[in-house]
Amino acid sequence: MKHAAERRQVVTLCLRLSERGYFAGTGGNLMLRIDDERVAVTPSATDYLVMRPEDVCVLRLSDLAVIDDASDGARRPSVETGLHARVLRARPDVGCSIHTHQPLASACALIGEPLAVPPALRAWLGDEVPVIGYAPSGTSWLAGKLAKAVRPGRQAYLLRNHGILCCAADSDTAMAAVERLEGLARDRLAARIEERVRRAPDLRDRLAPVRDLLLHLKGP
Ligand SMILES: [Zn+2]
Repeated sequence: MKHAAERRQVVTLCLRLSERGYFAGTGGNLMLRIDDERVAVTPSATDYLVMRPEDVCVLRLSDLAVIDDASDGARRPSVETGLHARVLRARPDVGCSIHTHQPLASACALIGEPLAVPPALRAWLGDEVPVIGYAPSGTSWLAGKLAKAVRPGRQAYLLRNHGILCCAADSDTAMAAVERLEGLARDRLAARIEERVRRAPDLRDRLAPVRDLLLHLKGP
């Protein structure tokens, strides 16, 4: 099997993302750069807990043609392949792009406000996490909207009403960005609740348990 090391790396990453609750079932996907021309991408509609290296798709980045099919046609590339490809084409410094529906950052994507990033997190997330306007998942429309927002140093993006995308030079750093974005989202949601209770104290009894639950979630 060609590209065995990169295929295994994708499987390991998906397991880690699933174990930590960032991927759920077949939800979420990622792209790993192999070299200037080739990328490895998660397959569509595959349970990550049982995914094998041969299920991972290897494509040419320029036109997304399948160039190494180890599954004998059983696996198709993720529907969000085009989304990741726009990032990797625009950003030669990016080696890994991860898209998730992770719960807290996805809640921020529903709220639809950009997240300012505190200095301690900027190495992973950039200065600000922008919101990409809504477009249906898996469409070139969504990929085009993201492409317009991609900038050097921007490592995390909220996809309106959908989820998030994080990217970095390597898979460990992209994974760290996913975790730190979830921690930032947790803090922002807790702060929103605090502000809401301050303006409407009669809501305290109902909202305080939600805030306490958020603040007790383990984060980086
Ligand atoms: Zn999605």
